Amino acid sequence: MAKERTLAIIKPDAVGRGLAGEILSQIHKGGFEIIAVETRRLSKAEAEGFYAVHRERPFFADLATFMSSGKVVILALEAENAIARWRELMGATDPAKAAPGTLRQQFGTSIQNNCTHGSDAPETAAFELGYFFSGRQLL
Ligand code: GDP
Repeated sequence: MAKERTLAIIKPDAVGRGLAGEILSQIHKGGFEIIAVETRRLSKAEAEGFYAVHRERPFFADLATFMSSGKVVILALEAENAIARWRELMGATDPAKAAPGTLRQQFGTSIQNNCTHGSDAPETAAFELGYFFSGRQLL
């Protein structure tokens, strides 16, 4: 299978608790190559734009506030089958339902504060990679 790319985010709850290094280590052990990385705090408008598909959901405002509450680590990851494999490493959205050993089971504390984000399909990966990184950064 050809290599594929996905957009990953280490969310403010994980960065704020000093977990970025441990999560990056598990990304490395999982066989992902880091193509691009950026650490910074998102504005609320950027978080809202990123999660625009969720704008009708009841938790949208809380989610945008949370995602702009502190620094995040934004990553372009590459591997064979990267989209599905990164979602497998993250685990289910709700940490209480995530499989043992997954990042969300290990480090997530609520359905919102679930420590990582990952694109869910090739079209969303293309949108999300382009939302944060320029073509030059993704060479
Ligand atoms: P994901 O693809 O597993 O990240 O899940 P979704 O696309 O359904 O949701 C996007 C993000 O919104 C999740 O990762 C959570 O941070 C947050 N979220 C999802 N469901 C809820 C909810 O019921 N309440 C709140 N407050 N946040 C939620």
